[in-house]
Amino acid sequence: MIYYKTDEEIELIRKSCLLVSKTLAMIAEILRPGVRGIDVDKLAEEFICDHGAVPGFKGLYGFPNTLTISRNHAVVHGVPSKEEFKDGEIASIDCGVYWDDFYGDSAYTFAIGDVNESVMRLLEVTNDSLYAGIEQVEVGKRLGDVGFAIQSYINNHNYSIVRDLVGHGVGRSLHEEPKVPNYGRRGQGLKLKEGLVIAIEPMINMGRKEVYLSEDGHTIVTRDGKPSAHFEHTVAVRKKGVDILSDQSLIEIAMQKNVNLKNINRALATA
Ligand code: MG
Ligand code: MG
Repeated sequence: MIYYKTDEEIELIRKSCLLVSKTLAMIAEILRPGVRGIDVDKLAEEFICDHGAVPGFKGLYGFPNTLTISRNHAVVHGVPSKEEFKDGEIASIDCGVYWDDFYGDSAYTFAIGDVNESVMRLLEVTNDSLYAGIEQVEVGKRLGDVGFAIQSYINNHNYSIVRDLVGHGVGRSLHEEPKVPNYGRRGQGLKLKEGLVIAIEPMINMGRKEVYLSEDGHTIVTRDGKPSAHFEHTVAVRKKGVDILSDQSLIEIAMQKNVNLKNINRALATA
């Protein structure tokens, strides 16, 4: 069953999505080598609760935390750990918020310290593939057009698309119908109608596409141990076109602050 949202409901989903984006921006400012995932998770939980909202993932499918933090070869659903982030790592951080009866859902893969160029390229291409998918979202197009655009973009860069996990509808439940695969055939699948709200979330592997569930029962990891990236936006289909409800610009401004701070610290250390 697909629930199409009214304009008022879309605004409530936007409110939840923006809180997710603000949470990810708060994280972007503090992420650096030496910081621990569990501490970031705790801050995110407090931040969300201080706004009067509820962490969307905690307790869902037995997940113990507010954020999923998936490092390096972990694809998604990583459990925040006590291990410190190391220079050169990547961390895909996914966050959900439940506020005034509606969920918001967005994810971003962060570089910790200095990450090598080939891995930075994976992050860039994965995020660009998300926007290639979003570009297809308009009334009358089909989910297959969205998946096809992501797939074509990724194939051109010789990475692999994780097929075992897909995007989804977002609303009063975090995971609603329809499923939103990151692959597809042009002109196939569900026709996009006004009021449809979906999370588009390419999970892209540098090596092969195969993944498995690790021993902790949550974390999905690549079989070949190579890095994986994950970017996600919640978007609404509107009469005028696509409406992106989450906001990466907040994260990017915060990352710039973090970089500036790093440069100032570096300058002070050598002064
Ligand atoms: Mg998510
Ligand atoms: Mg999602």
